[in-house]
Amino acid sequence: MRYLLLSLIAVMGCAPEPESQPAHPSEVIAHVVRTIATDSLNTDLRAGLPTVDIGMYLLETDSKRYRERMPLDEVIRRYRLAKDVFGGVGVQLNLLWIRTVSVNTEDLEIESNVMAGQPAGEITNLYEKSRQQRSTLSPEAEAMFEAIIEEDVANARTVYLVGMEDVIMNWYELQADGAWVVRSDPTNALSFPSYTLEERIPRRLRGVITVQNIFKSQKIIAHELGHKLINVSHEYRDISPAHEVDAEGGLMVYGEGTEIAAGAEGRWHLERLMRSPYLYRLEDGEKVYNPDYRESGHYADPIYGSLIMRD
Ligand SMILES: [Zn+2]
Repeated sequence: MRYLLLSLIAVMGCAPEPESQPAHPSEVIAHVVRTIATDSLNTDLRAGLPTVDIGMYLLETDSKRYRERMPLDEVIRRYRLAKDVFGGVGVQLNLLWIRTVSVNTEDLEIESNVMAGQPAGEITNLYEKSRQQRSTLSPEAEAMFEAIIEEDVANARTVYLVGMEDVIMNWYELQADGAWVVRSDPTNALSFPSYTLEERIPRRLRGVITVQNIFKSQKIIAHELGHKLINVSHEYRDISPAHEVDAEGGLMVYGEGTEIAAGAEGRWHLERLMRSPYLYRLEDGEKVYNPDYRESGHYADPIYGSLIMRD
């Protein structure tokens, strides 16, 4: 049950030395084994509507753990649900391809991030906390994604769903005795969102989302796309952003709800989605993207204007 163990590293109220968090980059080489036809998943697309391009990479591996948790038919089923969720608010998902890739390592567990800033102290707002704590993409995650995601001029405007075996997330947690620790948890999927990483991820990799256990929820792909495209954490209507939220109704809380609510009472989720830099419209055959983030893509980036909540 090693995946349920938590490793706790006391940091005594200050940032740990980078060496104190595991990061073992090594050269990763990946190559595409096959491309799976996805045309049937795009037959409903219409020119002129807001659209997001998505590329999907699944692993070609003998790993029993990966194969059991990421079967293709279940991945496609949840991708279709994501299409319905976003289609329901007028945003089309365009699946460019599904490619299977093999990588030159059997070590398919990666750390997602390294904490580079200070524990948040008195700050309670999750997004302000996140800015201070400065989570940064881990070297080993970077090596893995650089190897898998093929170079393309539109890399920074494309979302990539990448199958992974295990992705460990690191975060600061305040203990009852007042000490801060870096806590490490396994994840079922991870969105590497701009509100957390800002520009501390190579620009061409900023669209990456990993999926480790497709069975975690029916809406797992839709929910992770929500982190990336709406650029919010777990929150819904009168529920303030938090690391984990069990609630029904909204796409961005746990539970099976899929609502993308509008207006201040909906925490501007729909309006924020519509400003995502990953959205484009086809005009005369050309993809015209929304304006890019003006600062780093943090929660209150100027592209959102007044579409932000302070609590
Ligand atoms: Zn989430």
